Amino acid sequence: MEENQLMESGVSELNSNAFFIDPVRILNHSYTRFRVSPSTYYSRFFDSLNSAQSPKASEDSRKGKRKRKKKIQSLNEREQIADRRHQEVKPFLLKAHEALLEATDLLKVLRNLRNDVCSVGECKELSQESSELSFMELGGVWQAPLCEIVLNYQQDDKTLQNGGFPLAQSIEQKVTPAFNNLVANEGSYDIEAELFNHKYIIPKRSCFYMSDMQQIDSLIPAGSDCGFNLIVIDPPWENGSARQKVRYPTLPNRYFLSLPVKQLCHTSGALVALWVTNREKLRDFVENDLFPKWGVTYAASFYWLKVKANGMLTGELDLFHHRPYECLLLGYCDGKDTHSGNSTRLNPIPDNRVFISVPGDYSRKPPIGELLLDYVPGSMPARCVELFAREMIAGWTSWGNEPLHFQDSRYFAES
Ligand code: SAM
Repeated sequence: MEENQLMESGVSELNSNAFFIDPVRILNHSYTRFRVSPSTYYSRFFDSLNSAQSPKASEDSRKGKRKRKKKIQSLNEREQIADRRHQEVKPFLLKAHEALLEATDLLKVLRNLRNDVCSVGECKELSQESSELSFMELGGVWQAPLCEIVLNYQQDDKTLQNGGFPLAQSIEQKVTPAFNNLVANEGSYDIEAELFNHKYIIPKRSCFYMSDMQQIDSLIPAGSDCGFNLIVIDPPWENGSARQKVRYPTLPNRYFLSLPVKQLCHTSGALVALWVTNREKLRDFVENDLFPKWGVTYAASFYWLKVKANGMLTGELDLFHHRPYECLLLGYCDGKDTHSGNSTRLNPIPDNRVFISVPGDYSRKPPIGELLLDYVPGSMPARCVELFAREMIAGWTSWGNEPLHFQDSRYFAES
């Protein structure tokens, strides 16, 4: 039952408040000609499959270790608040994880997520392709305005869109600036794009704006009825740990106060979803400074629980600085016509909902935007934007200094 749901939609309900998701299957809703390669998505957390220990046995041994660790910890005031938050959410996380461990058929599917779409040999080749472009370097040089991206539309896209039959295939090219420019694929098919001899796959009906934060105001719609109803934000928070590897530049918290969230909102309002780390200092900043400055009213918290391919958590639940879960804070930003009654029609957002998945690359978040649509104000289809995005999704605008990062053709296989 659960595995059928997973195969079809990429989402499987574990209980009324917990879901297992396969990001690869969800992302693949955006593509027709290409498909996201599971082996390049799931670049980590599949080694443990070789472990002889069952998920249940290792869970029990973890519980023992956890108990020993907790006793020797002495927490400062801020850590105590963080621990209280953790203790509050822990029953929801444990219940969700237990439901996963009981779903034996789903666990079988989980073990095969990495290699069920393309053969291992095929996927290996993909992951060994050439190195990636550094968009941050390219976007920072004076020649950046001259950099152009070539969008290759297959001629039959247009014929099919007009309800006709595909003719012999030919390519129609559109050349447009790659940086500080809204680049859109308005067609109903994913297309290939070229930038400096690198190939990128652009989903159907999607667009990106690649720029530094200083240019984000260019995203503000001319008319507020063209604004966004769903705004997902995953800022480059400073992590405070010098030892932790940094794969992208980070910014001090105060920089995010100037994000024009309110101006990006649609007249009928927006659901704002903000990824935060488990650091109490950051949670305090978001609650007391950031959300009030953006005009966002807190509504609920969702949690992303990370598991390995054998169903075990990626780390100890009680380990202070390396929790195997992340939090998505949800809130509403009023639009101009909030008195029109839109807000009263909204479904209430359930608090403490848990999504479980095997993580992809470093800091890559699972694509849960679709799962938020029930709580988005305004008429459908919702207008959706992701800020600080590293990938694109059909129907979405992706903004950041590297929104093409995971669109590199090395992350895809041809259908
Ligand atoms: N949500 C993304 C994902 O799932 O892959 C991860 C986003 S990551 C936490 C933050 C992103 O912000 C990185 O791509 C980083 O390069 C980008 N970033 C950092 N400084 C920036 C700036 N000044 N302007 C625009 N983007 C910036």
